[in-house]
Formats: sequence, C-alpha cells, structure tokens
Amino acid sequence: MAFLSIRMHSVRKIFSHAFQDEDNRLLMASSPIFIMHVLALGVFFTGFSWAAFLALVVTYSVRVFALTAGFHRYFSHRAFKTSRLFQFVLGWVGTSSAQLGPMWWAANHRHHHQYSDKEEDIHSPVVKDAFWAHIGWVLCRAYGEIQQDRIKDLNKYPELRFIDRFHVLPVLSLILVLYIGGAVLNAYFPGLGTSGMQFVMWGFFVSTVLVYHVTFCVNSVTHIIGKKRFKTDDESRNSWWVALLTFGEGWHNNHHRWPFSARQGMYWWELDLSYLVLRGLERLGLVWDLKVYPEKIYEEARMQPLEVDQSS
Ligand SMILES: [Zn+2]
Ligand SMILES: [Zn+2]
Repeated sequence: MAFLSIRMHSVRKIFSHAFQDEDNRLLMASSPIFIMHVLALGVFFTGFSWAAFLALVVTYSVRVFALTAGFHRYFSHRAFKTSRLFQFVLGWVGTSSAQLGPMWWAANHRHHHQYSDKEEDIHSPVVKDAFWAHIGWVLCRAYGEIQQDRIKDLNKYPELRFIDRFHVLPVLSLILVLYIGGAVLNAYFPGLGTSGMQFVMWGFFVSTVLVYHVTFCVNSVTHIIGKKRFKTDDESRNSWWVALLTFGEGWHNNHHRWPFSARQGMYWWELDLSYLVLRGLERLGLVWDLKVYPEKIYEEARMQPLEVDQSS
C-alpha cells in the first residue's frame, strides 16, 4: 500500500507541477514535444488496423534499441565498438526518435553522470522534482546547446555533426517511409484497412510519444522508485518495469555504479533486451569489444546487505 501511495503521490506531484506553474504551461505549449502529443491524437481520425499497430511495434522497438544501445551505451559511454557505418546507422535511427542528435544527447548524459543528483544535475528528480526530471528539462530551451567540450570524441566525425545539425532529416525520413509503406499496402492489400496517414499516426506519432515517456522514465522514475543494490552517491535505483519498457535501462543503479558496461542487468533474471540484441549483432560482426561488469562489481554486489526497496 505504501508503495502505491508513493507512486500516486509522485503522479499527483507531476500533474500539479505541470499545470499550476505558469512557466511550465508556457514551455509545454511552445514545445515540439507538446505538439507531438497533440498530433498523436490524430489516431482517432485515421482509425486502427493491425498493420498500423505492427508498424508501431517495429518503430518503437527499433528506436528504443537505437537509443539504449546506440545513444546511451555506445555514444555516451563507449561500452562497445562498431564500424563507422553502423555508428552512423545508430545515430540516424536514434535521431528519428525526435530527441535531437547523438552529440547533444551524449553531452547531456555525460553531464548527468558527472553530477548525478547534485545541484548541477540537469534532470535530477531529487534536486528539483519528478516533473522536471521527466520532461520539464527537455522543454527548457536553456539545454538546447551542445556542450562541445564533453563530446570531443564524437565531434571528429562530420557525419555525426551533420545528423546533430540536421536532426529533423531522420525524423522526416521515417515519416516518409511510413507514409509510402502504408500507401503501398493500401493499394495492393486493401483488405488490411490501412493507409499512409494511418501508418504515420501509429508508426511515428504514437510510437514517438511512447518512446519519449519510456526514455524519460529513466531520468525520473529510476532516480525515485526501485531498489538500490549499490550505495552510489546518487539516488539511482533498479526498476524491473522500467527495464522491461526500455529494453534494459531500468537497471539504473547497476549502471550508475559501473557506467562502462554494455550490459546493464547483472544477472540472467535482470532482463536486458538491448544487451541480448547486441550479443546477436556481435555474432554478425556488426559490433565488438562489448564491455561487461568486472568480477569486482559482482563481488561488491555480493557484499552488499539486502537490497532496500525505497518504494515500500
Ligand atoms: Zn541516472
Ligand atoms: Zn548512462
């Protein structure tokens, strides 16, 4: 019950902050992220088909992987190696999630690790609040600039600079592919009951809004609710349900303890889908040199007292 009441309290806090604060109302109304939410309501006009739903599942899965394995574990933490071509693919597909480019993303994320839950942390729900950590900070234009000094290793690739600068292109290319896909299916298989616009609505707008919120949950929820395996000097926690939604990013306390690992779950029961896919890509020769938790981290985990569930 205590668990439920804390969760309800957090939800209430998010909504009261979102709607009572004048600045937040203005930020929300002027943000492309807000507009994306409004446009997603277009599904009520284009209707439903299983084909469009499948498009949503595919675009959600592929982009969550590109963000978790690509933007986070590769671009931000260099947890594995890959070719320049596959690096570009990860950058392009991740940017089609409309969360700006890999350099902007990695720069902000590296800043988060340096100052986790300290005053300087850009999106700490501990220093500020859950609304700010979840979505407020991305609505705030003050964080639009790329902190170049943090991403010198990425800045040397002109193709990554191109993606970051023209971050709208991957977004538009996804919309175009979906529109053509839906229109072709409509022309050749009218029995499917789909259309170009319906594909765009489900495969881009609804999918992107879902991808936003699961990504944002890593910044908000996993610094508030869940278990702390390690006594890190921040409030990061392990949350199994955020891990399910984000293909492994919910094992956030593990991650803060050892951010260099391409695997965030530590044991087989800590499901980390992105890591399993990375292992598959490794067999295909697309990625290599995957870093994992060293034995000393497992040893440290064994030495910890029983994990504390902060939500109960
Ligand atoms: Zn964190
Ligand atoms: Zn990280």
